[in-house]
Amino acid sequence: MSVRHRPDKMPDAEALHGPKAARPADRVGDSQWLAAIPHPAAILHVEGDELVVGSVNDAYLRNFRSARMNPETSVAVRAEWCRRMISFARSKKTAESFELRKDGGLGPEYFHCTVGRLPASGAIGERLLFTALDRTSDRVIERNLRRELLSDGLTALPNRTGFGEEIDDRLANGTWPEKAQFGIIAIDLSRFSRVNESLGPMAGDELLITVAKRLKSTLRQGDVLARIGGNDFAIFARLNNGLSDALHIVERIKEALNQPIKLSDLRIRVDCAIGCALAASIDEEPDDVVRKAQAAVKIAKRSGKIEIYRNGVLKEAQRRFSVESRLRDALAQGALKLAFQPLIDLQTGEVSGFEALTRWNDPDLGSVSPTEFIAVAEESGLITSLGRWAAYEAAQTLSRWDAKFGQPLPVGVNVNLSPIQMARDDVASMFEESLRFSGIAGDRLTAELTESAIVADPEKARKLLFALKDLQMSLAMDDFGTGYSNLASLHSLPIDILKIDRSFVTSMLEDRDKQVIVRTILSLADSLRLNVTAEGIETQELAHALQDLGCWQGQGYYFAKPMPESEAYDYWRARWNFETI
Ligand code: C2E
Ligand code: MG
Ligand code: MG
Repeated sequence: MSVRHRPDKMPDAEALHGPKAARPADRVGDSQWLAAIPHPAAILHVEGDELVVGSVNDAYLRNFRSARMNPETSVAVRAEWCRRMISFARSKKTAESFELRKDGGLGPEYFHCTVGRLPASGAIGERLLFTALDRTSDRVIERNLRRELLSDGLTALPNRTGFGEEIDDRLANGTWPEKAQFGIIAIDLSRFSRVNESLGPMAGDELLITVAKRLKSTLRQGDVLARIGGNDFAIFARLNNGLSDALHIVERIKEALNQPIKLSDLRIRVDCAIGCALAASIDEEPDDVVRKAQAAVKIAKRSGKIEIYRNGVLKEAQRRFSVESRLRDALAQGALKLAFQPLIDLQTGEVSGFEALTRWNDPDLGSVSPTEFIAVAEESGLITSLGRWAAYEAAQTLSRWDAKFGQPLPVGVNVNLSPIQMARDDVASMFEESLRFSGIAGDRLTAELTESAIVADPEKARKLLFALKDLQMSLAMDDFGTGYSNLASLHSLPIDILKIDRSFVTSMLEDRDKQVIVRTILSLADSLRLNVTAEGIETQELAHALQDLGCWQGQGYYFAKPMPESEAYDYWRARWNFETI
């Protein structure tokens, strides 16, 4: 047939598909037909349970000969291909298409395969015509586009979504020995926000890029590193020996991050928290394992140790999450309250002040302990607003008490400061404003801080403490004895009071060691000319013992539990001037 001879007509269907044309082998050999097809093609048939490959073209040889395929995966690819061919041959279908992925020399290759039927020829029964269109470049373009969506522009690592896809790919296409499992290692750069705040976002970016490079150098073949959040990285790792493999990787990560990082002309040491979660089997949902690793890293941030996910941690993380979101609402709606616990002058029995302690009774969560919500507030950054509220409210309470009494009460209020709040907020102006708004003299407020606040940034703490002294405030070192007890810094800082932690006080009469500690703190305070408050006085006996030791002030359930503002006022009123302990 020639189109040229019939210019006004479409090609005759009969001429293309008629009975003669349908039996090309009558005139042209199989291999000649196949040679005319530009992409891989083969004629096959099934004999018993076996697939027999008859004629093939050059393109087929170039792409599908075993020698051209990755030996590790070629067996599996071939088996899958044979299975499809045989099941098609046995079916009633006239044609079928499917995608075949195989590993080529330059990475994965993708073929769009079709198989159709050819009439029987001679002794051989029905034959199949297999053709494969190379779709690798389409897939590469698609993949690159997807990669942009799935990767982090700064470090070029997969982002959270990309991480999930990479893991799925590794799990579906990698070889997984029977004992192998996978693990996720989550890494959180602890002081990253401080770099951003103090050196600017460019330095922050530079730090992230360097950390990404260093973490990459710890990977083994097949591991995947991703940046799954602002300062959160995660590694997917195949573990042949369970936890011990994971811990090896952790060691390498620590080593890699141990060297200081140069940012412009500064050298910065990056601290990181590391949490791991191991999948129970390779069928476990990877997203769940990532979440578990993130829960573990949250705990690691608090504990300062490497944390391995335990059952129940996710529940804790969920609880923290709900505490955080309810606390945010409580702060916005003014639902927090201050309770006041009296501080008693142990020599006269008078109420010399109160410690303001935050109380939170949530409609859903019930009464949440300050130990729990303060930790959540510190972790989430809510501590700055909580701290501001507490300082303001404490000063306002004093002003309401003064108004009720008709003149300033001879008592002050102690306000707790969190180290995180001291690092992030301008605490001096916070107190200055609170005092100004309520018209209260500075000497009526005492700030209670902890040793860790000073250790974290001694110079900053020093400036703040002197600024608070300029406001005439008093300064108390809370929970004394439990921290680093840096005596040198105690001496050079304008601290007025040491509050002995109740873990030493409460059981001091039964425990000689604790008694020795209390005595030592008292004599240390004496030589540094500091006043001492003993926390956790639960019995009269203890109150008397501390009085005998010359301790200045006491606080504890023996005198009173923390109470609401008006009860605290009545308590002071009742004990004013004529009380003995
Ligand atoms: P803290 O500052 O050491 O406060 C003393 C804690 O000991 C209070 O616990 C108080 O109720 C408790 N306590 C007092 N006397 C006794 C006693 O005789 N026996 C026993 N067993 N306990 C006693 P609370 O109110 O649960 O507060 C716990 C911690 O939470 C506080 O320890 C403080 O560090 C923190 N906190 C509370 N409110 C605030 C706040 O507004 N801001 C900040 N930054 N921290 C706060
Ligand atoms: Mg305190
Ligand atoms: Mg304390």
